[in-house]
Amino acid sequence: MFTLIQLPYESDALESVISAQTLSFHHGKHLQAYVDNLNKLLSGSEFEGLPLEDIVCKASAGPVFNNAGQILNHDMYFTQFQPTSEAVQAPTGVLAAQIDKQWGSLDAFKADFEAKGVGLFGSGWVWLSADKDGSLVITQEPGGSNPVVKGLKPLLTFDVWEHAYYLDYQNRRAAHLSALWQIIDWRIIASRYV
Ligand code: MN
Repeated sequence: MFTLIQLPYESDALESVISAQTLSFHHGKHLQAYVDNLNKLLSGSEFEGLPLEDIVCKASAGPVFNNAGQILNHDMYFTQFQPTSEAVQAPTGVLAAQIDKQWGSLDAFKADFEAKGVGLFGSGWVWLSADKDGSLVITQEPGGSNPVVKGLKPLLTFDVWEHAYYLDYQNRRAAHLSALWQIIDWRIIASRYV
């Protein structure tokens, strides 16, 4: 049985970027529904008892894949944020060095990442991941997919499903994505890179 993750902050803690209303629907309704759906689908199935990553990689498509992927995606999404006043606003160490090596600067990386989020047609996710050699890659994942299906290690993600921003930003996806950097805690992203 999978359970809904607890948010590591209060529901109004990200208010300057994501409203408490959006957060309560996104976490309490959308993510809860994926958890409930997956638990029903897994009961008595070949996937019962497997870790989420394994389910996503083995299922490869269909309702089990979609719901398991969305739980994996949202668990990583919600746990990468901290209130603006507490979030570490830039990476340090090996992750910072790798971003500089590949993009030249953090700002250039952010611009590339945002553009790929804006350019993703329909519902999905934009991800920063590491390959097995530690090189970084930005991918656009449709629907509920996750970079683990490509053998990548996911580090950072922006949810570009409309439910992630429509109450606060309506159709202005680019404005939402640009604001998200304020609550990304790079300590958490760096901890996923090692
Ligand atoms: Mn979502």
